[in-house]
Amino acid sequence: MKPIIRVQNLRKEYPVKYESVIALDNISFDIMPGELCCIFGTSGSGKSTLLNQLAGLEKPTSGQVIIGGIPISLLSEKDLAIFRQRYLGFIFQSYNLMETMTALENTALPLMFKGINKKQAIKQAREMLKTVGLEHRLSHYPKEMSGGQQQRVGIARAFITKPKIVFADEPTGNLDTKTTLEVMDMIKSFAEQYNQTIILVTHEKNLSKYATRVITIADGKIISDERKDKSNE
Ligand code: ADP
Ligand code: MG
Repeated sequence: MKPIIRVQNLRKEYPVKYESVIALDNISFDIMPGELCCIFGTSGSGKSTLLNQLAGLEKPTSGQVIIGGIPISLLSEKDLAIFRQRYLGFIFQSYNLMETMTALENTALPLMFKGINKKQAIKQAREMLKTVGLEHRLSHYPKEMSGGQQQRVGIARAFITKPKIVFADEPTGNLDTKTTLEVMDMIKSFAEQYNQTIILVTHEKNLSKYATRVITIADGKIISDERKDKSNE
């Protein structure tokens, strides 16, 4: 099997006044298809920077990220946007739902961006929200839902297009312990069902039990990288 993501000598510096911050210091690793990879690190260790590079949201200072054989930093902004729409899904700590749209409309949005007609998109969104246990909240706006409910909409929206890779930046950062477990169970079960690759960034050590791979970073460097043997679970 070929890696789905290859990270090669990735470096990211941010210029700040008279010096520069080295947020990622020549990182290299491969991710295999179907891995649920947790990237751990304390605040400021470079997790979000790494995720932004992996998803092509920011350009690296040097080095490259190759997804499915494509060096993404070489794509134009337009091609990158199309690439993201086709192959990537995103889950955010603060949910990032559209405030003026209902749960149903928020979930249907990525399908409509892909050119699927509204009726079909809404139909699929309804199914998806049912899967995450929100069939009774279809016409609620984000403000009318709890954090856990909003994140379930976020998950439905991320998985509705069945993307090859889903990136999640601290997806449970604003949730209580019980809701955290529910949300993680949902992410894991979608990923297994569709054989997707998940890259999840977190500072919460207890989420490692969901992972098949745990990469720990500190000061922009990898300090450990462990694959978990499924037979030991
Ligand atoms: P984490 O997500 O692990 O908390 P980040 O990736 O956000 O860490 O940040 C890593 C380092 O890079 C930190 O020292 C942070 O201050 C710095 N940094 C992140 N983004 C910027 C930016 N846009 N400009 C300057 N420094 C930044
Ligand atoms: Mg962060």
